[in-house]
Amino acid sequence: MKRKIVLSLMLLGIMTGVSAQMFTQLDTLRGSITPEREWWDVSYYDLNLNVDPEAEYISGFNRIRYKVLKEADVIQIDLQQPLRIDEVTQDNQPLEFTSIGPAHFIKLKKKQSKGDYNELKVVYSGEPRKAVRAPWDGGFSWSRDNNNLPFAATSCQGLGASVWWPNKDHMYDEVDSMRISVDVPKNLMNVSNGRLIDTSEGDTTKNFTWFVSNPINNYCVNVNIGDYVHFGEKYEGEKGPLDVDYYVLRDNLDKAKEQFKQTSMMLEAFEHWFGPYPFYEDSFKLVEVPYLGMEHQSSVTYGNKYQNGYLGRDLSGSGWGLKFDFIIIHEGGHEWFANNITYKDIADMWIHEAFTAYSENLYLDYHYGTKASAEYVIGTRKNIRNDRPIIGPYNVNKSGSGDMYYKGANMLHTLRQLLEDDKLWRAVLRGLNEEFYHQTVTTEQIENYISKKTKKDLSAFFNQYLRTAMIPILEYKKEGDTLRYRYVDIVQDFDMPIRLFVDGKEQWIYPNAEWKTEKLKGATLVFDENFYVETEQI
Ligand SMILES: [Zn+2]
Repeated sequence: MKRKIVLSLMLLGIMTGVSAQMFTQLDTLRGSITPEREWWDVSYYDLNLNVDPEAEYISGFNRIRYKVLKEADVIQIDLQQPLRIDEVTQDNQPLEFTSIGPAHFIKLKKKQSKGDYNELKVVYSGEPRKAVRAPWDGGFSWSRDNNNLPFAATSCQGLGASVWWPNKDHMYDEVDSMRISVDVPKNLMNVSNGRLIDTSEGDTTKNFTWFVSNPINNYCVNVNIGDYVHFGEKYEGEKGPLDVDYYVLRDNLDKAKEQFKQTSMMLEAFEHWFGPYPFYEDSFKLVEVPYLGMEHQSSVTYGNKYQNGYLGRDLSGSGWGLKFDFIIIHEGGHEWFANNITYKDIADMWIHEAFTAYSENLYLDYHYGTKASAEYVIGTRKNIRNDRPIIGPYNVNKSGSGDMYYKGANMLHTLRQLLEDDKLWRAVLRGLNEEFYHQTVTTEQIENYISKKTKKDLSAFFNQYLRTAMIPILEYKKEGDTLRYRYVDIVQDFDMPIRLFVDGKEQWIYPNAEWKTEKLKGATLVFDENFYVETEQI
């Protein structure tokens, strides 16, 4: 009976899912590799911007250098309204363009020959969209600090970087390096990604020029403007000394000096589990912002109000979530999973969020032990909704269920149990960061790598947890010393072994869709709760 209800709810879910998934031409232009995108490979952005926080107005230009992969004469550049393109030029020749929403199709005059590097200059201006619920919607957050000075920052994951600067707004193609040059009022500072390479002063403005020497995804590029003060340290890491810099509001310096001690603890735990920090050349920074935080590459933004937990709350209810500052640990973890290894399509966003939610418990594991980490990740199960699959629809810029965080983390925690070999598990996590170093990837690449490295066929395992909203149910009957059991609500070929304890002694069973029996070597039976399944005695 219960199963029937589950199945009909699932059908309803699928049906409502279908009706909600009416995608438009704009979704496709934003989310797919259109013909006007695929013929060129972006190599360099030189973004120049003047930000007037009083007027909430920006103006500037982006020089876009690209390599021609095949001949074409129309190029797609994205910039979202209400910002407008004032002019596009190539070799100082003005070019014409047509627009469909935020997608601008520029007609090129110069012959685009395979192998050539060409440059496009896009001049733009306007009042950019204001972020209402940053970082979940995106745009500019315009705020003020305690001294009534402007305090502003960008965030744009999902919505897209084209909400504040013109670019090729699709994740598959990361720029190889980037210069970000920003003019702000003279009494303020701008902090962006990478290293500060130049500053200069005008009559009323000051320029801050930053350079990112590694590939960077669009949504991680950011500007942060405020009355910042700086302090820093050197972290002795796996690849040598790493420059760690902090930019915080003037009034928060003392609090930051205390709270940010967790940065080196984060780096130590994650270099252990994931391998060297992936951007030594660009340094690591924490930058205070007027919203909660975001994984901006090499300038991770921080707005957790100098307290542990997630704005002071423990997301796991286990107590362990108050042992660390959620934003320092979680957004720090994204330097490996999001910035080093990046999804090609936001449908595969679990690659960022499952591994990074999982990194929260690896941080605890490193500093407080395996029991702490298990209690934390199991505690986060209360946040799982099982509403729809973790993987979203492809090519329309839509992510899957929010379960990518804690269901994803519990899937990875379950996988660790299956391996029964933490050395191998660590080698998998470090290996992923080596194999896909500075790359954009698909779910299949991650799945295949893990299956290969662990010598296990994990296709049914990943299908179950990533591509359905079903949680495997282990049905069982205990008759004397005999256990009868099977799985229901599973995908084809799902046969994940389960560990249980009989009179406290470890024993494995190997369930699948068929009823099986097993002799129990004792009377009391406890299923290992590290496995993310439901158990149901019938
Ligand atoms: Zn995250």
